[in-house]
Amino acid sequence: MDLRQELVWAGNELLRRGLTVYTAGNISVRTGDGGGFYIKPSSTPYPEIRPESLVVVDWEGRVVEGGTPSIEHNLHRLVYLARPDIKAIVHTHSQYATTLASIKLRQGIPATLGEVAHYIGGSIDLAAYGPAGSIELAHNAVDCLGKTRRGILLKNHGALAGGKNLSQALDLAELIERSAHSMILAHLLGGYDTNPETYRPEWTSHAH
Ligand SMILES: [Zn+2]
Repeated sequence: MDLRQELVWAGNELLRRGLTVYTAGNISVRTGDGGGFYIKPSSTPYPEIRPESLVVVDWEGRVVEGGTPSIEHNLHRLVYLARPDIKAIVHTHSQYATTLASIKLRQGIPATLGEVAHYIGGSIDLAAYGPAGSIELAHNAVDCLGKTRRGILLKNHGALAGGKNLSQALDLAELIERSAHSMILAHLLGGYDTNPETYRPEWTSHAH
């Protein structure tokens, strides 16, 4: 599969895995030539996206090819610029991640929960609020990801996962959603046990 076909496949995978509905969320992957990235076109349902309808955006935010890019193209662009290790990005409004990012607790997902440390590289932190489509949102996401994390929650909005390819970014988006679900259940059942004895820093060292 070439990168365009892979991006189309990933959009349909988002639907199949229950991580998005309608046209919500957005996905992208770096172009092979290093000049920018392919991103989902704006307001197009995932099953209707074709390889030739993808939009190519360069590192200055200019549309090089295609129509109107997803509203969050600056979010994707600034994450790529800040993180050379991230080759593909999946941004969702998946139900539990969005819920956890919207409650008053202002808390992310601890590294001690399940596989979070191993796959994400530490806790899944909550980025400060920025309006959808804004540069502020993009800067807040970059700050929250730091140099090593592969997933974050976006305040009152959703989640973002960055991987070495689209397949990994999808898996990380799914992990964030499952972990958010666990955290919500833990809150409902009396609160998450933050016992530091359950955390081992070395878990993060061999994350892929
Ligand atoms: Zn969004």
